[in-house]
Amino acid sequence: TPNETMTQSSATELTSEEVVRITRETNYGTWRFQKGWNPLHIVDSEGCYIIDANGKRYLDFSAQLMCMNLGHKNQAVIDSIAKQAQDLAYALPGYTTTARAELSKLLLEVLPKGLNKFFFTTSGTDANEAAFKIARMYTGKTKIIARYRSYHGSTAGSIAATGDPRRWSMEPRGKGPGIIFGPEVHCYKCPIKHTYPECGIACADYLEHMIRNESDVAAVLVEPIVGTNGVIVPPPEYMPKLRRICDETGVLLIADEVMSGWGRSGEWFAMNLWDVTPDILCTAKGITSAYVPLGLCATSEKIGDFFQDHYFAHGHTYEAHPMTLLPAVATIQEMRRLGLVERTRKLGPFVEEKLNTLKSKHPSIGDVRGKGLFWAVDLVKNQKTKEPFNTYADKVSSKALVVDQIAAKTLADGVIMQAWVSHFVIAPPLIITEEEIERGIDTLDKHLHIADEQCVTN
Ligand code: PMP
Repeated sequence: TPNETMTQSSATELTSEEVVRITRETNYGTWRFQKGWNPLHIVDSEGCYIIDANGKRYLDFSAQLMCMNLGHKNQAVIDSIAKQAQDLAYALPGYTTTARAELSKLLLEVLPKGLNKFFFTTSGTDANEAAFKIARMYTGKTKIIARYRSYHGSTAGSIAATGDPRRWSMEPRGKGPGIIFGPEVHCYKCPIKHTYPECGIACADYLEHMIRNESDVAAVLVEPIVGTNGVIVPPPEYMPKLRRICDETGVLLIADEVMSGWGRSGEWFAMNLWDVTPDILCTAKGITSAYVPLGLCATSEKIGDFFQDHYFAHGHTYEAHPMTLLPAVATIQEMRRLGLVERTRKLGPFVEEKLNTLKSKHPSIGDVRGKGLFWAVDLVKNQKTKEPFNTYADKVSSKALVVDQIAAKTLADGVIMQAWVSHFVIAPPLIITEEEIERGIDTLDKHLHIADEQCVTN
């Protein structure tokens, strides 16, 4: 039986084949069919590279899950983990540590101005869950308006607020009470068939229409730059307009910067691109460059003040976990020392130019879009209709996706590309060099014929 084999081999040195087999037999592979899961056995890493058990090096073009912003083996972050483990591995959240205060001070410097009360979690998902509860406690209202084409996490509340088909797996049982959906902002494929700029940002007007025609609305929830669902950067007027709508209607604005935060857009936070401060900002991933699991729910002063004499009915055993806070301090210090935000801002136009050249060569590329080191290469079968190669329905019916076929080829060539349904998300570690960016894009270039050959020309 699998259990007997496992007990025997765990007493000995495991071969790489055993590591993969045992993992497959005993673990769930997530967001996939279990059949066919063949995880890469990673044994080492360096900067923008991970190294498998055969010694093969892979250039990581997506910073793993768009989170290893500093790259691997950053000595300052490693040292911070070792120091914290030696000094104090855990203390109950009602106590405090020096790192907790140091991190809070740094957050006041890097977050959009006005966010000054913090709740530390262990993931992006639970940062969003905290935001929903805080918004509901503060406003005394229930409904959260989320948008289609969004991802906010995998637990009951956050998956219910997720506007992409991953939510369907939970419906109708997991349909969150009080979550309603409005239109996404997506000028390449406008959900209400308008054209920017003549539209006057009608999708934001529709959100206002929703707020004014619904009762009991606590907040509007947005990914400032939509992540997994296609790296969608809104037009410049969108976020200031949404801020104005929320102010006029007395509804909170929640920004989910789990993926878009920490320099990825060329600003510390994407909301800085438009100089807009949300009432609540959630983040995770890059906050520790993924060395340890930390999430953050940051709120405005007025929300903080409210809880002076209202019971803050929320908390976790692992909130503000000491092992996560000193590494976050080290991460922010390293980001500053290496000037990674400014560097990312400067690299944005370089990536854009390379991707536009790529687009001009390949009929299968419908759109390239992004900011900083956060880009999508969006594949379409047909340039005119913008029909994608695959849909989410294909993904959950075990059909071979065109993007996955291409990603398998780039992986064989030693480049990790993050594929999602019908686009690639390019989000390398922020320490990547121009030569490495060229190598990654050239490798994609080499294999895009797989999609080109299936294009419909009209
Ligand atoms: N929000 C956004 C925008 C995300 O990209 C993610 C993760 N990809 C999450 C929330 C959930 O974060 P986590 O996976 O850390 O729970």
